[in-house]
Amino acid sequence: MPLVVELGALTVGRVLFEVRCAGCGVLGWCPCQACIEALVDPEPALVRGAQSVALLFAHSDVGREFIHALKYRGERAIAGWLGESLALAHLAALGSIAPSDTAPVGLARIDTAAAGLAPIDTAAAGLAPIDTVTWAPTTAAHRRARGFDQAETLARATAKALRARPMRLLRRIGGTAQSGASREARLAGPRFEGRARAAQRRILLVDDVVTTGATLRAATAALTDAGAAAVHVAACARRGRDLAHAGA
Ligand SMILES: [Zn+2]
Repeated sequence: MPLVVELGALTVGRVLFEVRCAGCGVLGWCPCQACIEALVDPEPALVRGAQSVALLFAHSDVGREFIHALKYRGERAIAGWLGESLALAHLAALGSIAPSDTAPVGLARIDTAAAGLAPIDTAAAGLAPIDTVTWAPTTAAHRRARGFDQAETLARATAKALRARPMRLLRRIGGTAQSGASREARLAGPRFEGRARAAQRRILLVDDVVTTGATLRAATAALTDAGAAAVHVAACARRGRDLAHAGA
């Protein structure tokens, strides 16, 4: 037992032997190497107003299982791994680290052991590092039903890996029924209001799934309106052409 505890402490909980892979259920690692290798590269996504966009994988097969485990089962092991991967993907999007030679395809396959999670010298690379990680809050109804907000869970895990501060900087305006909103506003997707303390911050905005990008676009605009110095985006799964196959 002490051995397990010691290993867990050394590796951010990814080596706990009693953990099951969120992708295939095999006992040992979460996620297991086979599932990491089975992830499909995401299609690119543009988020207007964001200075960079980092994506991990397509929302299909194993990628969808990872998101499902995070969203509906709130699995801590996969949340930790996704947070670390988002941190690395963000740094890769800024150009401050490169994906490893052994895993050239897909940001999720950056060799975390080789890249390490040591502070990156972004100043030397001519980049202003982010100082705050935030998320686009889910609806109150979803939060109540699940008992947590998966976007917040991801943002906190990402902030830990980047040694940045997680902060609640966005407020969701209205729920599913925006009785006071115009038809145009409802079609535009969710609306957010940035908090005053977003001003002057260099922010990484984190989310689990990107489909049309409307949520991240609205959240980015709200942070910018609140005076953010910069907004970068990092999301786990890109829902794209696989929609037709998923029947969703
Ligand atoms: Zn697996």
